[in-house]
Amino acid sequence: MFESLHALPADPILGLSVAYQKDGNPNKVDLGVGVYKTETGETPIMKAVALAQRQRIDTETTKTYVSSAGDAGFNDKLAKLVFGAENPVLARQCTVTTPGGTGALRMAAELIKRCHPGATVWVTNPTWANHTALFQDAGLVVKSYRYFDKDNSCVDFAGMMEALKAIPKGDVVLLHACCHNPSGADLSQEQWKAFAELAKEKGFTPLLDMAYQGFGVGLEEDAFGPRYLAETLPELLLTTSGSKNFGMYRERVGALTMVAENGTRAEILSSVIQNVARCIYSMPPVHGAAIIDIILGSNELSALWQQELAEMRGRIHDLRALLVEKLHARQDQKDFSFITRQYGMFSFLGISPEQVRRLKEEFSVYMVDSSRMNLAGINHQNADYLADAIVKVL
Ligand code: PMP
Repeated sequence: MFESLHALPADPILGLSVAYQKDGNPNKVDLGVGVYKTETGETPIMKAVALAQRQRIDTETTKTYVSSAGDAGFNDKLAKLVFGAENPVLARQCTVTTPGGTGALRMAAELIKRCHPGATVWVTNPTWANHTALFQDAGLVVKSYRYFDKDNSCVDFAGMMEALKAIPKGDVVLLHACCHNPSGADLSQEQWKAFAELAKEKGFTPLLDMAYQGFGVGLEEDAFGPRYLAETLPELLLTTSGSKNFGMYRERVGALTMVAENGTRAEILSSVIQNVARCIYSMPPVHGAAIIDIILGSNELSALWQQELAEMRGRIHDLRALLVEKLHARQDQKDFSFITRQYGMFSFLGISPEQVRRLKEEFSVYMVDSSRMNLAGINHQNADYLADAIVKVL
């Protein structure tokens, strides 16, 4: 049976990580894989997570099965974190625990197939590489719409709206709720409102991928798009991830939220999505979800977590400013100020694949071919070296 298979290339971003590990240059800089790093290059366990985990271990009494919806406490608290504790939308939504944000996207794909097997999923151009692969692998057609204006390093909102006007009812439009990966270019509140109007008029269903709540402007501000769309549209799909904002990458915790026209439909969705889960993995892992449940259920741990999240967010903002300052001090050929107007861990530096290759081969500076940088890989020790290297390849 296996003789028909051929080896597949490794994921390019993970491949970059391997190449970085092997590089013996003491000045090497890793701006590749999308994980948060501290000033000393570590990705530590957040204090709130470590404390909640200890509490979980001390109080857990059974490892018996849970339902296909996962951890009920987590599902409830996560929906409140996204929409706000008093939002009436809570009465017409259903949230289930999933294995990470990726698992949530795959569950969304399976749900879309049950509703509209022929639906096309429209993704931003560019988008997180796994979006296209994941929806295609699930058997859906994936097409992209204009999103990022490379010349001006911002959202091409007019182009995006023009493209979306042609999308038929029943198709799904995927947008990043905040901290667009890979560009860092997000919609303004006015743009979210205009997008909602268009979705209402055209009848397509938005699918919001929120992998970075709290990494952009703040927990509340980053949820503007999901809240506005949920409040103004009858239906919405939303995927969230605990990988980045709780730093629980390997615990695989995420959620799929389905907003329906009313509570009765939300209950139907709950039964359908649990049936989907039962057929794929039966039930999600809940260790990570239980930890988040403990944090969000405790005023003290929530405050600590929010403080740690604010520190991560603040550090990324500061690194954006630091890089721009260093680059502008060395040259005036290219304006990099757009980097400070973008959010989350990523931005395109805006150089060619050939220049990216030179950065890697001549200076051991690693970033994705598209020139997407993970800004969290910068620190006060490597910033001058990095800026020197970039200016040399410009
Ligand atoms: N969506 C986007 C846009 C992401 O950047 C990521 C993580 N890189 C995910 C989803 C998936 O996150 P997880 O690790 O929770 O599966």
